[in-house]
Amino acid sequence: MKIVEEILELKARRNALLLAHNYTRPEVQDIADFVGDSLELSRKAAECHAPVIVFCGVRFMAETAKLLSPTSIVLHPNPKAGCPMAEMASPEEIRAYRASHPGTQVVAYVNTTAATKTEVDICCTSGNAEKLVASLPQNRPLLFLPDANLGANIAGKLGRKIELWPGCCPTHNKILPEHIKEARMRHPNAVVLVHPECLPAVVALADHALSTGGMLRFVHDSPQKEFIIGTECGILHRMRKENPEKAFHPLDPAVVCPNMKRITLEDVLNSLRDMRPTVELDDEVLRRARAPIDKMLEV
Ligand code: SF4
Repeated sequence: MKIVEEILELKARRNALLLAHNYTRPEVQDIADFVGDSLELSRKAAECHAPVIVFCGVRFMAETAKLLSPTSIVLHPNPKAGCPMAEMASPEEIRAYRASHPGTQVVAYVNTTAATKTEVDICCTSGNAEKLVASLPQNRPLLFLPDANLGANIAGKLGRKIELWPGCCPTHNKILPEHIKEARMRHPNAVVLVHPECLPAVVALADHALSTGGMLRFVHDSPQKEFIIGTECGILHRMRKENPEKAFHPLDPAVVCPNMKRITLEDVLNSLRDMRPTVELDDEVLRRARAPIDKMLEV
């Protein structure tokens, strides 16, 4: 395809690293240098030292790449690709919460804006949330934001009281317990994997709740041959590509995040050609929002 050749040629000329989330369009994943979940992409951005990063994912992820690689030019090819969940907790709301709940430890899912991260103690991803919350002192109240489902699922797993922010992922919230019951009837031998952003009632019916990176490792290592996948359907592309001998069924084909599909090959080409739109964060946000991410990467 001509457009792919043009992108690869420009990418080489700019010495750019192209990162893509597991939920992005298949054709975007296919030209990426690295495809992964939020935690894997954060680590890649932190260690890459690339002069240019093209980040194919939603806005908060591109901001995280900028926080972890501040000297890189970070291109986010379509600024309309935002995450509704990330907009559900603002810095002002967190300051107000802290004022009325002194002593609370605030844990933020990485799905938050850089501005919101400046007000929290530590970040986590779905891949490390349980381990990270378990590492925090038990004798202080703990607020988890913005995803109430992920917070409730961790609380249930750890048997720990956690205050939950009333946010959620509109895409994962579409998955209901009846979807699992119906899918199990259709595919009785399949293992059911769901994302921990799903409702606790959904997680309770699944065989495992895993981050997208965790799901990919699981299906690769498992001797099982058939899987029902309860997360954004973009991940099926990589699962099928990496495991051609296994069968993957979406729990519900309507579980598609419109924001994760916004970045097209044309957007990638245009951004590499014009070197915009770039992610810009002011120095104070860079400094203060990086601290909770650094803490996360240390755990
Ligand atoms: S799948 Fe959910 S959490 Fe992820 S970008 Fe879309 S809306 Fe945000």
